Amino acid sequence: MKIRTRLIILFTVLTIVILSLFATVIFQSAKKSREREYYDLLKKEALTKANLFFNARVEKQTLQQIYRNNRKTLNEVEVAVYDTAFVLLYHDALDIDFVKEDHRMIRDIYSKGQIQFFQQGWQVVGLSYDFDGRRYAITAAGYDQYGYNKSDSLLVSIFLVFGVSILFIVVAGIFFSRKAFEPVADMISKAKSISVSNLDMRLPGNGSKDELADLAGTFNEMLDRLESSFDAQKRFVSNISHELRTPLSTIITELELSADNGLTEQQYTAAIRNALNDSRRLARLANSLLDFAKASYDPSEITFKPVRIDELLLDARQQLQKADPTYKVDIHFEGDFENDEEISVNGNLYLLKVAFANLFENGCKFSDERQSSVSVSFGKDITLHFSDHGIGIAPDDLPSIFTPFYRGQNGSFADGNGIGLSLTQKIVGLHKGTISVTSTPNLGTTFTVMLPAIGPPVNSLLIKL
Ligand code: ADP
Repeated sequence: MKIRTRLIILFTVLTIVILSLFATVIFQSAKKSREREYYDLLKKEALTKANLFFNARVEKQTLQQIYRNNRKTLNEVEVAVYDTAFVLLYHDALDIDFVKEDHRMIRDIYSKGQIQFFQQGWQVVGLSYDFDGRRYAITAAGYDQYGYNKSDSLLVSIFLVFGVSILFIVVAGIFFSRKAFEPVADMISKAKSISVSNLDMRLPGNGSKDELADLAGTFNEMLDRLESSFDAQKRFVSNISHELRTPLSTIITELELSADNGLTEQQYTAAIRNALNDSRRLARLANSLLDFAKASYDPSEITFKPVRIDELLLDARQQLQKADPTYKVDIHFEGDFENDEEISVNGNLYLLKVAFANLFENGCKFSDERQSSVSVSFGKDITLHFSDHGIGIAPDDLPSIFTPFYRGQNGSFADGNGIGLSLTQKIVGLHKGTISVTSTPNLGTTFTVMLPAIGPPVNSLLIKL
């Protein structure tokens, strides 16, 4: 069910409940006050007739005649007078006699002084009346036709107002909810038209600072992020295609040339060597992309366990020197560590080795001496400075070197595909670490990596304290 419909139903039900309560209270209080007023009237009538009968000594027949005459036009009150022995002294009209008095009722009147009750819609009062040292019981009964008519017309008015109000609330609810939800409907139709092909479209703000404007703003921010991530992906794919196409077309050309017989043995060997070099480049690119994909996994899918940084660095150096034995790597530890935890991080062995090997390789390949070094210091974080005395990075390039496929102005100095540093940054980020760079052209470059150490075990901390 739509929120709009739900709101209309909710408000209608709420209004019905409130109006019903209101109407019930009004009707009940009107009913009570009619009853009270009519009992008062009955008492006055009873006393007037008793006074006429006892004090003014008006004839029974005269009083009865007045009653019968009035009865034709008014809802006249029927009065009866009894003495203590339950002897009927006076009755307005015995033939009509609506209230059937009995001993118990008369006793009640004498003991309580006054009683009142309903009898088939008629209201009855009973009063004790003292005259000339003697006590009498008077009963008066009447049907409040006029009051009941007023109650009925009040009830009709209440139902009428009730119905009209509900109708009004429903119509107003539909109208106002449509008005209130108009911007939402606009947003929905606009959002429906946004797809990959027009990710630059944005939701319109309604010019105010309300929740809908907030929602549109948040949605637009999400679209900004999506758009930039789509753009990045498109750039990534086109970069990959480019990186794949260049070595592939060189390989094809080399092989086509070789297919033509008549090359010298030296030319064949050169062609094979060139094709081999390009194939290696392709293999390196494929491996880097594979690592990039792994580093982009959800962290929950990557296995993390305590790994010793010193062992990792030695492994990375070994891996690098296996690929190119001319590379030299120095590893230096600043200070001693007291336990394994101080030199260990919670990490993925494979990915961290890839990151370190990249930094070693860059240091070696961008320096004439083909040498790089790392110095490691321990603390809350393990800090690694990867330095070289190579050609350095141009200041203009520094902000971009972590962008995938970006190669600096010094790119021609060494082979590469521009993935290494972006992959390294991803891996360090995955381990909740940071990477930064400082470089001076022609003097050298230092990459600083900080990784959170597992830290000393709790009991050794306690001993220190
Ligand atoms: P690649 O090394 O394959 O070009 P990277 O992502 O590893 O790609 O590095 C990106 C760029 O950063 C390099 O092309 C180079 O311009 C610059 N760079 C990285 N490390 C160094 C370094 N140690 N010395 C000089 N330039 C570097």
